[in-house]
Amino acid sequence: MVRIDEDKCIACEVCLPFCPMGAIHLNDIASIDQEECVECAICVRAAVCPVDAFVREAAPYPRSVRAVFSDPTIVHEGTGITGRGTEEMKTNEVTGRFKPGFVGVGLEFGRPGIGTRFRDVQTVATAVAKAGAEFEPKNPVTQLMKDTKSGLLKDEILDEKAMSAIIECLVPVDKLKELLTRVQEAAQHVDTVFSVECITRVAPDDTLPIDKILSEMGITRRINGKTNVGLGRPLLEGGAN
Ligand code: SF4
Ligand code: SF4
Repeated sequence: MVRIDEDKCIACEVCLPFCPMGAIHLNDIASIDQEECVECAICVRAAVCPVDAFVREAAPYPRSVRAVFSDPTIVHEGTGITGRGTEEMKTNEVTGRFKPGFVGVGLEFGRPGIGTRFRDVQTVATAVAKAGAEFEPKNPVTQLMKDTKSGLLKDEILDEKAMSAIIECLVPVDKLKELLTRVQEAAQHVDTVFSVECITRVAPDDTLPIDKILSEMGITRRINGKTNVGLGRPLLEGGAN
């Protein structure tokens, strides 16, 4: 938990713009709205306070999940790396997860600058579960589920807030339309923003098997990021496309 030592604060206001959640408020002195704070520790790492008034203390579970999902310096126990997803989500595919006929779907919540309650993550997770999605076991959100078939998260973390969280799952190509339709419906019931990423192997004729589905749904594909499927494929047989 991050707090401000009220005996030290001189109300200089310097720290206020450094909080991405707008959780630092100034009355006679500065204080942190602990409901909105996601424990990212940017205010601490920025080291702008002239009197060193920020104090960081270990938070008990379930509040401790805030820092795990918000502070990029913390290594996840489940993934062994920093950040909110597995390595496949940020660099090269390393485990052969994305096989022909399947689409990897990533749902990234809370960015930019809004954050997300895990209750909203659950709303979308249960929607994709109904479409037959298989959640990635090493993903940090999956590890907070009490039931990976339904996508339900542990009750005690639902009101916790994080800077961001990522669902990672896999569906057969022929289930993608149903999954995206359910996600669009679920989006009407969440109080945050999220983006949807589809990861698929390029067919031998250089087409993408998901393009027809996206086109039929009126969704414009944007190549905002790329996962180099197959380049890190020590476990993948049959070569990469
Ligand atoms: S830990 Fe992050 S969210 Fe909390 S007050 Fe500091 S900058 Fe804001
Ligand atoms: S920078 Fe330090 S002294 Fe200034 S308002 Fe923030 S906590 Fe108080």
